[in-house]
Amino acid sequence: MARDERGVTPRSEDFSSWYNELVTKAQLVERGPAKGTMVIRPYGYRIWELLQAELDHRIKETGHENAYFPLFIPDSYVKREAEHIDGFSPELAVVTHAGGKELDEPLVVRPTSETVIGEMMARWVSSYRDLPLLLNQWANVVRWELRPRMFLRTTEFLWQEGHTAHADEADAMRETRQMLDVYTEVARDIAAIPVVPGEKTPGERFAGAVRTFSIEGMMGDGKALQAGTSHYMGTNFARAFDIRYSTDAGELELCHTTSWGMSTRMIGGVIMTHGDDKGLVLPPKLAPYQVVIVPIARAGQAEPVLTAVRELAARLKAAGVRTHVDDRPQTPGFKFNEWELRGVPLRLEIGPRDLAAGTALLARRLGDEGKTPVALDAVPEVVVTELERFQRFLLRRAVDFRESRTSTVDSWQEFTEAVATGWASTPHCGRPDCEAEIKAATSATPRCVPVEAPGESGGCVRCGEPSAYGRRVLFGRAY
Ligand code: AMP
Repeated sequence: MARDERGVTPRSEDFSSWYNELVTKAQLVERGPAKGTMVIRPYGYRIWELLQAELDHRIKETGHENAYFPLFIPDSYVKREAEHIDGFSPELAVVTHAGGKELDEPLVVRPTSETVIGEMMARWVSSYRDLPLLLNQWANVVRWELRPRMFLRTTEFLWQEGHTAHADEADAMRETRQMLDVYTEVARDIAAIPVVPGEKTPGERFAGAVRTFSIEGMMGDGKALQAGTSHYMGTNFARAFDIRYSTDAGELELCHTTSWGMSTRMIGGVIMTHGDDKGLVLPPKLAPYQVVIVPIARAGQAEPVLTAVRELAARLKAAGVRTHVDDRPQTPGFKFNEWELRGVPLRLEIGPRDLAAGTALLARRLGDEGKTPVALDAVPEVVVTELERFQRFLLRRAVDFRESRTSTVDSWQEFTEAVATGWASTPHCGRPDCEAEIKAATSATPRCVPVEAPGESGGCVRCGEPSAYGRRVLFGRAY
């Protein structure tokens, strides 16, 4: 199958070209004029809004409040936490001139907001009664990425960043793990991506964090995507920004802080988890249009068909289904291809013959079940059920795929074979230089020590030294 002017390079032929062509052909994004930036088009932005609503709801349910902090951060703030600045400085965009003159102090365009929020937390927290302080912001951030990819790694991206302050380690760790659970749930139940939650090895930690946790999804080419992170900062930022509280007994203590983020990268994750040779496949919960109705009628016979289609669309919308009527003057075949490429889960076709029979033809984006006639009266009920089935099917398929490409290995030979096509679950010594050697030899990196990893006591798969974690580590090549 070759690429035609409407289609894309088949995924099975070249995953990378498929992805790059699909994001624009499906009208999700355009490259922005500045390198590494992206314009998110309405169809792509709607996916983000749907994800955002689900995540925002859970963030609020767990007691957090939304606030907004400034885009510009004084250079001196970013420098206050030593590891943080070391980690981020190569990625910073810095404003040195504004208002026609050189600034006294350069301003950093936020790459993340620990510093400015830390400064405010120090003002807002004085006693144990002010804790925990549970904040979240929805914002854009800028990181000067050298190898940008639309959604996955852009220089400017949209995300939420949660920032919290707690009285002690136990409470801050509870928070860190709770938000990891929230991310796991959103990825699984909304995006149908069966991610593995786990802890990052020291070499992969966030700059300034004591412990970093992530969720890792397996993409359709067997590579991993870090789809969200949750960090326990210990007292590092509290010390740098003087976030202290007085205890019940009147003693002054440092707070323990956390931060956690999920970004527009998730949209790339949805594309690479579910898409196929024909294009996108969207999980119903994130589909801007869950069903598209295509009226099929020749000139002169269109009116009764269009009337029935509009009436059906109104009933579907009333049933809570995101419905789109495609009545453009194009052939049905053109429309079918386009909505397949754009990943709409269900399609309904109605022509004069269907109308006479009191039915519509239902076609699914996946599955070989062909087209099924459905009585017009029953359409909303059937569509709701089919959407739920479709959502479950995608998750099941992704779990099966991940399991088929994940191997439990104990020898180097097995390891190299496993990471050539997927993930390896293996004992590891935890030494950064051993991680670097593994990466140089195979391109694979430790993705995480899964929360539910089986215990093991064997030696490191590479160097034979004792295993550092008492649990298997998941390795894979990653985006
Ligand atoms: P971090 O603050 O580095 O822990 O990042 C939080 C989350 O943001 C990561 O887990 C990624 O999913 C996402 N992310 C990081 N860098 C980018 C980027 N350049 N473009 C899109 N998403 C990103």
